[in-house]
Amino acid sequence: MRYLSTRGHPDRRRFCEILLEGLAPDGGLYLPESYPQVGERLADLRQVWATRGYADLAFEILKLYIDDIPEADLLALCRKSYTPEVFGTAEITPLKKLEDGLYLQALSNGPTLAFKDMAMQLLGHLFEYELARRGEELNILGATSGDTGSAAEYAMRGKHGVRVFMTSPKGRMSAFQQAQMFSLLDENIHNIAVEGVFDDCQDIVKAVSADLHFKRKYRIGTVNSINWARLLAQVVYYFAGYFQATAADTQKVSFAVPSGNFGNVCAGHVARMMGLPIAHLVVATNENDVLDEFFRTGIYRVRGSADTHETSSPSMDISKASNFERFVFDLLGRDAALTRSLFSDALARQGCFDLSAHPAFAQAASTYGFASGRSTHENRLATIRDTDARLGVVIDTHTADGLKVAREHRQAGLPMLVLETALPIKFAATIEEALGRPPERPSGFDGLEDKPRRLRVMPADVNRIKAYIAARVRPQLLP
Ligand SMILES: *Cc1c(COP(=O)(O)O)cnc(C)c1O
Repeated sequence: MRYLSTRGHPDRRRFCEILLEGLAPDGGLYLPESYPQVGERLADLRQVWATRGYADLAFEILKLYIDDIPEADLLALCRKSYTPEVFGTAEITPLKKLEDGLYLQALSNGPTLAFKDMAMQLLGHLFEYELARRGEELNILGATSGDTGSAAEYAMRGKHGVRVFMTSPKGRMSAFQQAQMFSLLDENIHNIAVEGVFDDCQDIVKAVSADLHFKRKYRIGTVNSINWARLLAQVVYYFAGYFQATAADTQKVSFAVPSGNFGNVCAGHVARMMGLPIAHLVVATNENDVLDEFFRTGIYRVRGSADTHETSSPSMDISKASNFERFVFDLLGRDAALTRSLFSDALARQGCFDLSAHPAFAQAASTYGFASGRSTHENRLATIRDTDARLGVVIDTHTADGLKVAREHRQAGLPMLVLETALPIKFAATIEEALGRPPERPSGFDGLEDKPRRLRVMPADVNRIKAYIAARVRPQLLP
């Protein structure tokens, strides 16, 4: 398997070459040259799931995309990552039935109680493995609006050869998220609270990554959702959800996905392209509805910092969706020149592009199964209340956005799986607002907010952040 760039760079790379990288050299995103087809093998994979479990299912799917790690090693890495000890249940992503044909798939029982652990735990082991094999070190620079950062830090803490520099928008994460991240005192973990919004953090990461000299000298890598390995890890739970919701491979299902950077639902798109019988991929946004606007109108219009709303589902507070280019590339029949012109010219010049008149736009729904919807603070509160009162289940704010939009897209005979992307304790203030009582705190998290913290507050200034990193990393001698 080789990987290409969505912007047409001629190089073809192998999995381990792109594992430790972010963007392709031309600013595009990596995608496999083709999607392995599993339609004929679904029964085998269902059997793997039923008899050998999640970790082995992950191995069977990952090995279709990874041919530069020996299979025995890859299997061991999957088995180290997806254990009941780390994820709380033998199923790893168990399905909970809400009503006939409506399910919640729990992706948030990992160490940081959000779905990003699903990818990040594997990534931690992959990074450590590959760095040791090369005899190298890596300094991860990341941007988080909350869940990515803590998931990355919990995955990388104590790992050999890895340091994490994680930027987050100061004061914008929930109290629980801040406590989770900032209470990590491990020497290889650096928290940087940036005076700005998430997109300022993301722009800093992009700017540093674009400085190829600095990037090489300080061995900068990334774990943002544009990382292909992360996306690939997420493909697995679509299969696990599908096998739990269905008895036979003739049955189709739909997924509703609380979306921000389009990483989670893009993994669903990959699963569907591989032949998993997914009818619809329902993109649920909050008030930051860049994606819903696109799927309704064909216009992709990124927002400025000032138009990016601070909402009660903050992990979806994005102004542009960093993984979206992958889907647009597929939607346009993999036309790299057009993808490049949209993402590097039109977006840079006018902050938007318009595919409404392009014949491909209609295919987003008809050929690729996409649908979308939007949820507001009031919708979120109402959904949390209703789910608690009628079904006795407390859901988090992001999951509530997913469930609200899922209900608008249900179809008879088509099971709908709502991806539960976080546990309610992470967003306790809104749960209390909705229910008049605090959410349950899972065992092991008592007193988290009172622990000592380690973080640095900094302005949204690329050079200051570079200097901070340079002061803490031994530079590599370059020719
Ligand atoms: C990151 C996150 C999302 C959004 O996922 P994307 O992959 O960015 O679309 C939704 N919900 C929660 C809880 C998250 O942490």
